Amino acid sequence: MHRFFVPPDCIQGDAVALPGDVARQLARVLRARPGDQVIVLDSSGWEYQVTLTRVDAGLATGTVTGRQASQGEPQVRVTLYLGVLKGDKLELVLQKCTELGVAAFVPVFCARSVPRDRQGQWAEGRYPRWRKIIAEAAEQSRRGLLPSLEAPLEFQQACDTCQGLGLVPWEEERTTGLRAALVGWRKGGGPIGIFIGPEGGFTREEVDYARARGIVPVSLGRRILRAETASIAAVAAIMYDLGEMEG
Ligand code: SAH
Repeated sequence: MHRFFVPPDCIQGDAVALPGDVARQLARVLRARPGDQVIVLDSSGWEYQVTLTRVDAGLATGTVTGRQASQGEPQVRVTLYLGVLKGDKLELVLQKCTELGVAAFVPVFCARSVPRDRQGQWAEGRYPRWRKIIAEAAEQSRRGLLPSLEAPLEFQQACDTCQGLGLVPWEEERTTGLRAALVGWRKGGGPIGIFIGPEGGFTREEVDYARARGIVPVSLGRRILRAETASIAAVAAIMYDLGEMEG
């Protein structure tokens, strides 16, 4: 059954008014008809079974016929602080890490980030497309929560806002591995924030700043991974370690 994330105010009691982009997709792409059923999610932890009552490209409505707690969410809330990369690489990370269960993405401008257009325009042009990539990945992977894409931050700001267990994979780290840093941090242990550097990596000053704020530098092994590989691998490893890769 097709799944759609909608803003919470689209569901009023049993009445559902689907937003324009969902209506268009239902009418034009999926050729849905009144009477068809879809799953609608509002990131509240519930998923609603909805019978469509009207399907036009301009307006689609439906009635809630059932609801259940969504099953797709990991118990751990992982925020990925991702050094700003060139466009298509970031898109891959958003898509794959949504499938793996990341709750929030924060693009981070680092000393060695290539896109230099620091604020404003950089995000404005790209965010609608990126939000769509996240939503499609969340629907396809049966997430119960639509991961958020936060406004970009400077590295230091990002460190200051990180909550719970902060980890900064750093290729120069020789003592602490990812697994060691996760010991004692089990399901329900609180949020995890993970920082991945841009193509050129973090500077030593950045790692020192993070460390001073209690964010732990960790190794992901002796091989140097590209930033997109490091992101996907680190999130997968965290989910595995916390028992989130079970049926
Ligand atoms: N340019 C750097 C590598 C940067 S890789 C160099 O060649 O040395 C991009 C990011 O991926 C890094 O900032 C780090 O966060 C992560 N990363 C890649 N490989 C890693 C490893 N073996 N251990 C820890 N972090 C790693």
